[in-house]
Amino acid sequence: MERRTRVRFAPSPTGPLHMGGVRTALYNYLYAKQHGGDFILRIEDTDSHRFVPGAEEYIIEALKWCGIVPDEGVDKDGKVVETASERHPHAPYRQSQRRGIYRAYAEQLVANGYAYYAFDSAEELEAVRSAAEARGETFTYNQKSRMSLRNSLTLSAEETSKLLEETVNWTIRFKMPENTVVAMDDMIRGHIEVNTDTLDDKVLWKRADELPTYHLANIVDDHLMEITEVIRGEEWLPSLPLHYMLYKAFGWEETRPRFAHLSLLLKPVGNGKLSKRDGDKMGFPVFPLRWVNAEGEASHGYREDGYFPEAFVNMLAMLGWNPGDDRELFSLEELIQAFSMEKVQKAGAKFNPDKAKWFNKEYLRMKSDEELTDLFVPILEANGIEVTGCYKCPVSHDFAAHSVSKNYVKGVVALIKERATFVADFWTIAPYLFAAPKEYVEKDAAKFWKEENYTLALKAAEHMYGYEGPWTAEAVGEELEGFIRGNEWPMGKVMNCLRLALSGASSGLGIADILSFIGKDEFRSRMENAVAQLG
Ligand code: GLU
Repeated sequence: MERRTRVRFAPSPTGPLHMGGVRTALYNYLYAKQHGGDFILRIEDTDSHRFVPGAEEYIIEALKWCGIVPDEGVDKDGKVVETASERHPHAPYRQSQRRGIYRAYAEQLVANGYAYYAFDSAEELEAVRSAAEARGETFTYNQKSRMSLRNSLTLSAEETSKLLEETVNWTIRFKMPENTVVAMDDMIRGHIEVNTDTLDDKVLWKRADELPTYHLANIVDDHLMEITEVIRGEEWLPSLPLHYMLYKAFGWEETRPRFAHLSLLLKPVGNGKLSKRDGDKMGFPVFPLRWVNAEGEASHGYREDGYFPEAFVNMLAMLGWNPGDDRELFSLEELIQAFSMEKVQKAGAKFNPDKAKWFNKEYLRMKSDEELTDLFVPILEANGIEVTGCYKCPVSHDFAAHSVSKNYVKGVVALIKERATFVADFWTIAPYLFAAPKEYVEKDAAKFWKEENYTLALKAAEHMYGYEGPWTAEAVGEELEGFIRGNEWPMGKVMNCLRLALSGASSGLGIADILSFIGKDEFRSRMENAVAQLG
């Protein structure tokens, strides 16, 4: 019977979600939506030692920022669902709140001979471990060693019952069968075979905290939540044989999900997994949102660094997947259409921070001038520039009052959009279109503000004050250059003086563009300021 596609993203709230984790969530989401199925969020928090406050909220907010909306597991207010309803039939979606259901499953495996009780204390295991080390061996709790350890396979039934009743430091371990080939299929990696002799007897459930381990909770929940495909990071591939064995032991092989293990995101340079350290060293974020840890150390986030969520998502989608042709720009909707597991690559995907910027630049260019202006206004305000009026109001500015109209800002945005990667760049590219320069780049001034040049620049300015034609960049540029050329003055030198006076530096936007924005009065005032300050 064809089952409804149901996939899940099952993060552990042990810290901020790494961008690799977001990619896992994204591929799950794309797969679910493409197959008209459900995308479920489940919080795997059974390892209380690794729990980090705020991590769960972070995960949910990060997914929301990316537009990856779970169908099940999170309510409208962005909270993990704790009570079952029609939309969220499998609540609670936090494993710590499902603790009551796992023990019976573990006991069922013991009853059927697939698992056993283990009573070895931490100290006892430590002692065997050290003894093994002394012999130059490594200890594993497995088919060979289990028969010399304290468990329900070696102790009498009476003693076992007694220990179960009277002690709390026991666990239930999976009894890995001997010399059995586990044949598995991975949607990305194909057929895989592993002999069980290489595997150990993993703990499934712990009496001490009455909690399951990852393996048990994961399989039980995937089964109960009717998951059809498990799409997760490659680091879980070594657990796959155990998971296959568990499905078999429970008698759930018929509805066992299919598995896809995604390759790692790799460092931009060198080998290995992309880490926070790479980001810190090379100045790029590895987290979707900013994160401040318990020690108060902050990590960069794509959101706070000015990336558009669409650009971030598009970039992530292409890290390990390609559509089979050269196309690179995809909206989330288009990704849902185009995505396919067959085109997900087996090899790790090298992260390229410049490419991330390229995506953002492309998305910036695709946005309308008004959209960009709206995003830019708060940045202007933070820099002490007031923005007044509306898009239908006339263009105006009052530099003395640090005030410009919205349509003025929109004009600037249209002019410099092509040069920007982030909205914040609008300010760094041309702060002088919003306020007169307060200082002049020293080495530029030393190089260009020479008497023989600035006297000519002042004469050219003087000529422009008297110019009565249209005040557009084109007309102003023609008039100014025509005048300088007509006098056979050195064009570059004169222009550099003008630019220094207008913008505070000798490089930047074209003079005619600057003049067309700031107008004649501001032109005069900036020339006077420059003379006053630079001599
Ligand atoms: N809780 C696991 C994690 O943090 C989930 C692994 C899986 O998807 O099975 O990655």
